[in-house]
Amino acid sequence: MHWALVGASTIAAEHMIRALRRHGEVDWVVSGDAVRGRDYAARHGIAQATTDLAEVLADPGVEAVYISTTNEKHRDQALATIAAGKHVICEKPLAMSVADAVGMVAAAKAPGLVFATNHHLRCSGSHRTVRRLVAEGRIGRVLSLRVHHAVFLPPHLQGWRIDNPGVGGGVIPDITVHDADCVRFLTGEDPVSVVAQAGVSGMGQGVEDSVMSVWTLPSGAMVSSHESFTHRFAGTGLEVHGTEGSIFARGVMTQAPVGEIALVTAKGTEAVPFPGDDLYAVAVDEFVAAVEGRGRPAADGVDGVKSLAVALAVREAAASGRRCDVDYGGL
Ligand code: NDP
Repeated sequence: MHWALVGASTIAAEHMIRALRRHGEVDWVVSGDAVRGRDYAARHGIAQATTDLAEVLADPGVEAVYISTTNEKHRDQALATIAAGKHVICEKPLAMSVADAVGMVAAAKAPGLVFATNHHLRCSGSHRTVRRLVAEGRIGRVLSLRVHHAVFLPPHLQGWRIDNPGVGGGVIPDITVHDADCVRFLTGEDPVSVVAQAGVSGMGQGVEDSVMSVWTLPSGAMVSSHESFTHRFAGTGLEVHGTEGSIFARGVMTQAPVGEIALVTAKGTEAVPFPGDDLYAVAVDEFVAAVEGRGRPAADGVDGVKSLAVALAVREAAASGRRCDVDYGGL
């Protein structure tokens, strides 16, 4: 498979180029800056760099495009890529609004292109194991979930995320969107309404760097979710509490296949093992399988719309101080 990168990004450098190369060549990188693009291509062994997305889309050899620019660019770049008949893996959040994200999904549907959202957490062995335990009824009926995803944003990522709302900065589009996908993946439920408070705790300039929210699921189960850029030592985790047991997954809200899972029931506490596959490799493996007509991507476009819808409802609830219904844009 021949790929193009749109965005000379950190996430591509740190995780995705390696995952894409398991399935062929990365032929191009598109950057807004010619010099940075050329340097990036040289550093990562990519044959061609350009500032012109149209040049890449005119290359008949390119079959799929990975978009990892800042968030405000995702929509137009995805729509252009889809119009050129190429499959897309788009970074989260898919767009700046639910309506835009819905439009991207609709555009890919008509020509039958695969359109995936890069929600890596649902590709981790830990999350898939928690999901299986829930689906098997090991904790009975789900009563509540707690998501602990307050981390310390490393200095090399403290750019647009902490000071530029116009390009999609803030912890809500950055991390809450992942947690929304995670809860949907684990429960199979779409949150109905949310309440939230957000604030600045030492890093954000014009955008929130911390948020706590509570979501209601259609079953009546409740979710509490905490995201932050400023917590150095909090650790991450995921808890699912049911009528017959609780699952404690510690250290699993991350990019690496690490952490531990404990299942607590009336029988006692059981450590549950899980596969240690690279999350991004799994995401790309499943995307390629979908392109080849085998299954669907780990997270598709609809999943990307819904995670964004929850995150934007959290932002609206925090700004207004009101309980907000989640608007899935008709999906
Ligand atoms: P980066 O800041 O590294 O890259 C985003 C854009 O910033 C690039 O496309 C590039 O623009 C520009 N850029 C990169 N380096 C520089 C620089 N030194 N000086 C000036 N501009 C620069 O962002 P991330 O890789 O962290 O995030 C990119 C996207 O991926 C976001 O949408 C984010 O939400 C998502 N993401 C997803 C993750 C996941 O696990 N699914 C994890 C991390 C991020 P240009 O296109 O012009 O080259």
